[in-house]
Amino acid sequence: MSQLIDALSRILPAKQVITDSLRRLAYGTDASFYRLTPEVVAVVESEAELQALLQATRAHQCPVTFRAAGTSLSGQAVTDSVLALIGEGFATCEIGPEAATVRAGPGIIGGEVNFRLAPHGKKIGPDPASINASKIGGIAANNASGMCCGTAQNSYRTLAGMRVILADGTLLDTEDAFSVASFKQSHATLVDELQHLGSVVRADAVLAARIAHKYKIKNTTGYSLNALIDFEDPIDILSHLMIGSEGTLGFISRITYHTVAEDPFKASALVFFPSIELACQAVLALKPQPVSAVELLDRPALRSVQDKPGLPQTIRSLGDDAAALLIEVRGETAAAMQLRMDAALGAIKTINTVEPASFSVDPATCDMYWKVRKGTFPSVGAMRRTGTTVIIEDVAFPLASLASATLDLQALLRKHGYTEGIIFGHALEGNLHFVFTQDFSDQKEIDRYARFMDDICTLVVEKYDGSLKAEHGTGRNMAPFVEKEWGTQATNLMRRIKQLFDPKGLLNPGVLLNDDPQAHLKHLKPMPAAEEMVDRCIECGFCEPLCPSHRLTLSPRQRIVSWRELSRRTAVGESVADLEADFAYFGLDTCAGCGLCSTACPVGIDTGALTRLLRGRGMGNTQHKVAQWTADNFGKVATASRVGLGLGHVASSVVGDKLLAKLSGGKWKRGMPHAGKAPQAYSGAGDPVVYFPACGGRIFGANSNDEATLPEVIMELLVRAGYAPILPEGFDKLCCGQMLESKGMAEEADEMSAAVTQALLKAADDGQGGYYPVIMDASTCSVRMQKKLAGTPLTLLDFHEFAHDALLPRLYITKKPGPIALHINCSVRRTASDAKLRNVLAACVEQVIEPAGVTCCGFGGDRGFVVPELNVHALRRVHDALPSACCEGVSTNRTCEIGLTAETGRPYHSIAYLLEECSRLPVENTC
Ligand SMILES: Cc1cc2nc3c(=O)[nH]c(=O)nc-3n(C[C@H](O)[C@H](O)[C@H](O)COP(=O)(O)OP(=O)(O)OC[C@H]3O[C@@H](n4cnc5c(N)ncnc54)[C@H](O)[C@@H]3O)c2cc1C
Ligand code: SF4
Ligand code: SF4
Repeated sequence: MSQLIDALSRILPAKQVITDSLRRLAYGTDASFYRLTPEVVAVVESEAELQALLQATRAHQCPVTFRAAGTSLSGQAVTDSVLALIGEGFATCEIGPEAATVRAGPGIIGGEVNFRLAPHGKKIGPDPASINASKIGGIAANNASGMCCGTAQNSYRTLAGMRVILADGTLLDTEDAFSVASFKQSHATLVDELQHLGSVVRADAVLAARIAHKYKIKNTTGYSLNALIDFEDPIDILSHLMIGSEGTLGFISRITYHTVAEDPFKASALVFFPSIELACQAVLALKPQPVSAVELLDRPALRSVQDKPGLPQTIRSLGDDAAALLIEVRGETAAAMQLRMDAALGAIKTINTVEPASFSVDPATCDMYWKVRKGTFPSVGAMRRTGTTVIIEDVAFPLASLASATLDLQALLRKHGYTEGIIFGHALEGNLHFVFTQDFSDQKEIDRYARFMDDICTLVVEKYDGSLKAEHGTGRNMAPFVEKEWGTQATNLMRRIKQLFDPKGLLNPGVLLNDDPQAHLKHLKPMPAAEEMVDRCIECGFCEPLCPSHRLTLSPRQRIVSWRELSRRTAVGESVADLEADFAYFGLDTCAGCGLCSTACPVGIDTGALTRLLRGRGMGNTQHKVAQWTADNFGKVATASRVGLGLGHVASSVVGDKLLAKLSGGKWKRGMPHAGKAPQAYSGAGDPVVYFPACGGRIFGANSNDEATLPEVIMELLVRAGYAPILPEGFDKLCCGQMLESKGMAEEADEMSAAVTQALLKAADDGQGGYYPVIMDASTCSVRMQKKLAGTPLTLLDFHEFAHDALLPRLYITKKPGPIALHINCSVRRTASDAKLRNVLAACVEQVIEPAGVTCCGFGGDRGFVVPELNVHALRRVHDALPSACCEGVSTNRTCEIGLTAETGRPYHSIAYLLEECSRLPVENTC
């Protein structure tokens, strides 16, 4: 392996060859309950790099596993050899004429492709529930599907073309006649053999009928044998075999999909039935109707969410045998949707329901119905005992047997003691998921799981002739059972296919086909208790796309994985030396603490809270003393910081921003603001409002010397709108403590916020038992103080919220044409006050640009100064997203604005500056 690593280091840039223990463990983990740690992780950014990697792994006889987003559940994306991580170079997306097709690279997230197709009224067919995290490579290689796509719109059915790199490094582009012709020549044996296999299978009526029958319902067990009966052209056979091949036949380096319509009108009905049988009768009745989704939930699934706020009361009173169907219809027009609703209701009108069935078109109600469905899996995950894994299985039955199969599954869960198990699924396809929790730390428990799986396989295969994996892929989990499901003849066909494509068996060995009957019980992932706040993590990876440090250092999932392993080793007395030192930088220093991970996490984990906790624990006495001094002497800290800024500007005027940035290790930024100053008190008339300028706007002044500072701008605006701003007594010596909290010094931070609370209570007291509203001007600090003021009579609004509610109605606005870039800071995202921010901006500017792919700016209070690479990485996509005509930007946090200004070379200001500019007359467009 070391020779291979040397070879990889010669063909790939150094930072793309990862060999440290921490990242091999963290990057090697996927969402399944299997754990294998790669010897090396190689990030590949281009076809050429991938080809070179395959050449090297072949030369050194080392297996390689491709990795897209690592959300797979069946163990197909893990390896103990070489993990080829698909880089952002493969995150491509090219929309075809009239958006009828889309060409996507394997490294782009499925949801991102849909986001780009949305303005054209289109989307891709496959719709796994994980679409906002999973990537095209994994979606295609797993033949993933979801609630609406069924068997008609999955990757297999909507494939229009593919670029594929085979194990020997050959690139085939099925859409390029020249590539096809030369491939047919260079790989004549493979091409002939595929053609031959196709004709043999088509000539064997029994086998062909069996294959056709198996794909009437969803099936991802083994290879897509339907390619052999659906196509005669060997290139078509090849490209369709790649779908669902789980990285065992070759590398999909681009895929062209036929897109499908994304109807704008949607309605949902949540219908309760007294029994599973009645619900399944309704499924059969709905099958021929124009419905887009029918989701079945059994009683335990409903019970798992029934106490959640805002869900229908009926759920609690349902009988033990009850079940529900969540039905969705869509339409290109409201009238078309109405016809579909009528057809669906007509089809089930004779079937007994707990309450009369009806559709809702109200988005909030539909959202609530879907919360019932989407909440079930996380509920089991969240309720599980620490140390156990949550397992989601994925089987399919012929539709006619759905009711008895569901009852049989319920009985098997009970028989094996999985009393918390729930069942839900995509009923129209006979696809059921059952979710249960499993302890893999105890052999007895592993044995129980083994017996359960044997029973499941017998039930699905022998009793119902169903699919052991309907949409999650075979992986390691079902590889030992492929032959049981498909029989020897079909499985031998699969073995032949594998042999043809990968004669040396180096592509993801052990996955999809595995001769070891115990393979599904090996390499089980430990789930040790680590920290209560993250113990519920199911390692799904949904949080990764939002995290500013993902792919720079660690993602939230990878932080948790690392901390779990550190905790496990500490608990059993194993050495942590190889992980600990790296964790300080990769895990702790480079977490922006933005909490965006919590917004995507199905079980609501804020990994930033873990980071703060661990940072706090790592703080020695000296640091706490410094923190205490800071808390007690904030006025002096602010003054010293202003002096530092002033000196920095003197230095920059001599050596320039660039050199100073270099000399300071990136800590001095391009466009660094000038030293701030405290605003002057206002003594005029107006409606009182308390304004607490956050320390960011007091320490960091304006972007240029001739601009007013943020507090000055806000004071000006308030007065213009008829308010009389009150500055709390001693405000210049106060700080909410956010800065210390982010370093894990919670106690000292709370002392600071308590002092602010006292000052605000005093300033806002109207003397008649009431309180004036309070505003702050830095979103992160506003959100912190909003939490701290809970339980007091004070109402605190972030500036943009106040501007929306109380300034816009009082100001005369003249719009600027723009374009102006908008950066929605993580606190605004987390508190969902972004709509107000967008409204204020829309009131001021004709054209707004929200750069796609930018979430948190990574500045994280002071992270941008301490680890400047985090800010650079977090904003790496902003450059392409901003057109040159866009010459300024707005945000709501002073430090974010500093980072954005430095990275984009465009001045970013608080939205207050724009509002101030647009509410004076006349207005000139500065762009
Ligand atoms: C909570 C949760 C819900 C889920 N819901 C669904 C669902 O509704 N439907 C569903 O189908 N799945 C679901 N999944 C499973 C999984 O998310 C999907 O199958 C997804 O498509 C996997 O994509 P990925 O990018 O994570 O791929 P990865 O896990 O990275 O890889 C998947 C497989 O594809 C191979 N691969 C990746 N890229 C390439 C490439 N370029 N060329 C060749 N092989 C490649 C890998 O080697 C691996 O075998 C869910 C997972 C979770 C955690
Ligand atoms: S933190 Fe949440 S979203 Fe991230 S991997 Fe864990 S469970 Fe999934
Ligand atoms: S808090 Fe922000 S930076 Fe830290 S793990 Fe979560 S998303 Fe990533």
